Amino acid sequence: MAVTDAVIVGARCAGSAAAVALAAAGAEVVVLDSARFPSPTLSTHLMWPGGLAELARLGALERVTALGAPRLPLAAVEIPGVRAVGRYSAVGGVDYAMCVRRAGLDLALVETARAAGAEVREGARVTGLLWSDGRVAGVEVAERGGRAYELRAPVVVGADGRRSTVAGLVGAAEPYLRRPDGRACFYAYFDDHREDLRPVAAQWRQGAELGTAFPCDGGLTLVLLMPPDARAADFRRRPDEEFDRTIGDLLPGLAARLEGCVRRSKVFGVSGLESYFRVSAGPGWALAGDAGHFKDPVTAQGIRDALRFGRLLGEALATGGDPDRATAAWQERRDRECLEAFHWTERIGRADPVGPLDVELHRALRADPALMTRFLDVYSRVVRPGQALTAPRLAGWTARALLRPGTDRAGLLRYVLRTARELRAERVSIKSGHRTHR
Ligand SMILES: Cc1cc2nc3c(=O)[nH]c(=O)nc-3n(C[C@H](O)[C@H](O)[C@H](O)COP(=O)(O)OP(=O)(O)OC[C@H]3O[C@@H](n4cnc5c(N)ncnc54)[C@H](O)[C@@H]3O)c2cc1C
Repeated sequence: MAVTDAVIVGARCAGSAAAVALAAAGAEVVVLDSARFPSPTLSTHLMWPGGLAELARLGALERVTALGAPRLPLAAVEIPGVRAVGRYSAVGGVDYAMCVRRAGLDLALVETARAAGAEVREGARVTGLLWSDGRVAGVEVAERGGRAYELRAPVVVGADGRRSTVAGLVGAAEPYLRRPDGRACFYAYFDDHREDLRPVAAQWRQGAELGTAFPCDGGLTLVLLMPPDARAADFRRRPDEEFDRTIGDLLPGLAARLEGCVRRSKVFGVSGLESYFRVSAGPGWALAGDAGHFKDPVTAQGIRDALRFGRLLGEALATGGDPDRATAAWQERRDRECLEAFHWTERIGRADPVGPLDVELHRALRADPALMTRFLDVYSRVVRPGQALTAPRLAGWTARALLRPGTDRAGLLRYVLRTARELRAERVSIKSGHRTHR
């Protein structure tokens, strides 16, 4: 039976990143993926500077840049009557976002893993695990075309996405922390002749609707709508019609951005998503990327976190010490770094309509470019949400909103009290590393 140093199941963001780190340290790594690349996947693909910096650390940024997506040095957020535009701080020398279609992005990652020395086997589905003395000791593989074989390794990394086979086989599929996502995701590609707006990643919110336009490779713009999850059924029944109607009737700012741009793809979509943490380390196994942890796409953190914690997992395993200790310490670090972003994302992802505090926030961002940059840096993860959404700022915006004529004061106070309670509970969850829930 064949033996290697590490088997990685899944070759996209988390899998390729772990493979690069291990192979670069001289380990023999086999990456198995049931897909054949280039292969699209159901995911939008905005990366903030923090995500691009992770690509750079892997040595993949040049390959990704060659795909031709425009740099997006500007970000815009708009609610009725208030538009704020700003710039990012540089992360690892990168001060722009980029939106790269997944088929090209993931192929670039696979090529980077191969260039680092990893063996990537495509069309290879992992169907079972090998066990020895209570430890995972390898995988059973079924190749497209019928060949089946076993591959032994002292560590198996499941980087096989939200429906992770490896998580199921090790008994970790049930999350220890989970939250339903409040919004569904429906997206499509438009041709884009607005050269003046191609450097801008933009978001519009109106009522409970949320839409974005992210210029991407191929001369296209990715348009993502995130309606309340309760509206997903309307999209499912008539995806194209509901997509176009939502833009035209409910998001006039986005409609204006897309004037003269023609939709060039069908509408892709997913609803009923859930954010979670799974136990991600055990004897002879670990779960990287979405296999172990997922956040609502509304803050576009998934690719960055899959790359980062895939790489860190590979680096931890490459030190050559006890692999179980290495994966346990890696999991602690992932949770420490991700818990606050998880709670922040969950709050943003709720389908709450634009409220008085949103108005004050957008006004403040418009008035203060430095504050706008600080908020964008939360998306890059170089500033923590709590460092930008500070108690004095929240108190100031609440006071301003209370004084504004027409504000539903009772509703606002209820909202503020609820948020304060939630922030307190989140602080406890973050401080404890959410250990009580394991
Ligand atoms: C609708 C939507 C929009 C999103 N938008 C963004 C965004 O704009 N920006 C962002 O940063 N993140 C976004 N995300 C999150 C992002 O898609 C994920 O976080 C990221 O793809 C995680 O990468 P991964 O490598 O962990 O898993 P995946 O990308 O899911 O890759 C898993 C791989 O494992 C393979 N696999 C699965 N099972 C097996 C098996 N048994 N054997 C062999 N191979 C197997 C699959 O073929 C696949 O190639 C979005 C997610 C969704 C759902």
